[in-house]
Amino acid sequence: MSTALLLGHHGIRALAVEHHRGTAIHPRAAQISQRTMEIFRTVGVEQIVRKKSDEQFVQDGAIMAVETLAGKEIGYFISNLNEGVRDISPTERVFISQSLLEPLLKSRAEELGAQLRYGTDMVSFEEDSNGVTAVIHKRDAGKTQTVRAAYMVAADGAHSRVRERLGIAMRGRGTFSNSITIYFRGNVAPLLRGRNLSVIYVTNPTLRGFFRFEKPFDSGFLAVNALGDPTNPITDVSTGLTEERCLEFVRVALGSDEVPITIENIMPWKAQADVADRFQHERIFLAGDAAHVMPPNGGFGGNTGVQDAHNLVWKLAMVLKGKAGPELLATYESERRPVALFTVEQAYARYVTRTAPYLGTGGIQAVENDLNVELGYCYGDDRRVHENPRESKGRPGTRAPHVWIEYEGRRISTLDLFGHNFVLLTGPEAKPPKMDLDADVHRIDDPAFLEAYGITPSGTVLVRPDGFVAARTR
Ligand SMILES: Cc1cc2nc3c(=O)[nH]c(=O)nc-3n(C[C@H](O)[C@H](O)[C@H](O)COP(=O)(O)OP(=O)(O)OC[C@H]3O[C@@H](n4cnc5c(N)ncnc54)[C@H](O)[C@@H]3O)c2cc1C
Repeated sequence: MSTALLLGHHGIRALAVEHHRGTAIHPRAAQISQRTMEIFRTVGVEQIVRKKSDEQFVQDGAIMAVETLAGKEIGYFISNLNEGVRDISPTERVFISQSLLEPLLKSRAEELGAQLRYGTDMVSFEEDSNGVTAVIHKRDAGKTQTVRAAYMVAADGAHSRVRERLGIAMRGRGTFSNSITIYFRGNVAPLLRGRNLSVIYVTNPTLRGFFRFEKPFDSGFLAVNALGDPTNPITDVSTGLTEERCLEFVRVALGSDEVPITIENIMPWKAQADVADRFQHERIFLAGDAAHVMPPNGGFGGNTGVQDAHNLVWKLAMVLKGKAGPELLATYESERRPVALFTVEQAYARYVTRTAPYLGTGGIQAVENDLNVELGYCYGDDRRVHENPRESKGRPGTRAPHVWIEYEGRRISTLDLFGHNFVLLTGPEAKPPKMDLDADVHRIDDPAFLEAYGITPSGTVLVRPDGFVAARTR
């Protein structure tokens, strides 16, 4: 959906087919990073996403661990989701579930010209030197159709059939738990005792997992990753489940029998940390969980998928418009795969340290500050894949920094200048260089801008359509 939306933003028509008959009916992923919100801001949906998220969640909650919701607190990982990060972006981290977010993205994607077909399977495909031909099947109508496209993005999830068909292997930590998500109803407000909690890890001798609750705190979910002996747990949680057993899990995690609970749904999923060997096969690109699967700890999975799309679409648009050669497309894999490897390991490190210490902390990466994962991922030749976004200061390969500036009488973020074309930002005394490239040019006479971008008044910074610094002359 993000790919179709962003392609629409670049004036490229896309057809997206989705097996399900509509947008998500379960809450599913909800933690949206500032980077994803910045991308949503570029395509004009930040405000509506923000508004809907406020209707659903109390923002700025904590991420913490408890023995049970009613009982002992173990500790806080983050005490306020946006504390200490507000100045670095024009946006904020929010929680909004997929069931509310997807219709917003869908309607904007359609406004921008994307065709989204639900209840439709992509049954088979063939690649040739000019494009991709696919057979799609409308489930309810029983109708089959052949469609032709210049390129195909396989965003078909962790069990990607396209990836399998192309013979691209996944590599990494493999699957370490057959987990479940239990969606339930029940008034948990008294157990929250006024605490503002976004994600609550539960660790006790019966189970390990995490809670998330929605306003008005009468519904939520419990994800369960492991059962029993913490040093030698049962990690196959999904086999032989009954509703009664799920009720018992929820009661144990709440630490109370007093709250009447109704189970609404149980979803099995695999906790896995793997990255595809390749992200591109000729005219086909893997994106999202099809390219990298990670445990939900950190809330990186969906966000990383949106960032894949953001990296890929401007390149596709330039190639399709004849402004760049197809070699540009090869940089999708060379830029995104190292970031995926890093992000997957960061999610795994959070899984091990927060939920599954029995997996062993030897050989895992140190847990980096969330900000470095969310805004500090970077591209380039020096194999550096992340950096503190407060220190990168316009270094080529990193996200161009946010600074509030005066522009045509309005207060805007520097990020609001990016999104369509290459952009050349210049200091007040710079002579714009001669460039063999179509770029919007903006002269910014503001010391805060010079400082943030690491240039002198005669310096220039060239920014890509995805808001990453391409080049800089100090
Ligand atoms: C409990 C839990 C909590 C999570 N929380 C967060 C969070 O807070 N933040 C976050 O960023 N991430 C989170 N994640 C991860 C996030 O859910 C995933 O990374 C994200 O949903 C992946 O999106 P995707 O579009 O790549 O794949 P999917 O969501 O798997 O979508 C793939 C789609 O492709 C369709 N499809 C497959 N094959 C075909 C075909 N042949 N034809 C037509 N359609 C097809 C499927 O029906 C499916 O809808 C969480 C995950 C879990 C399990």
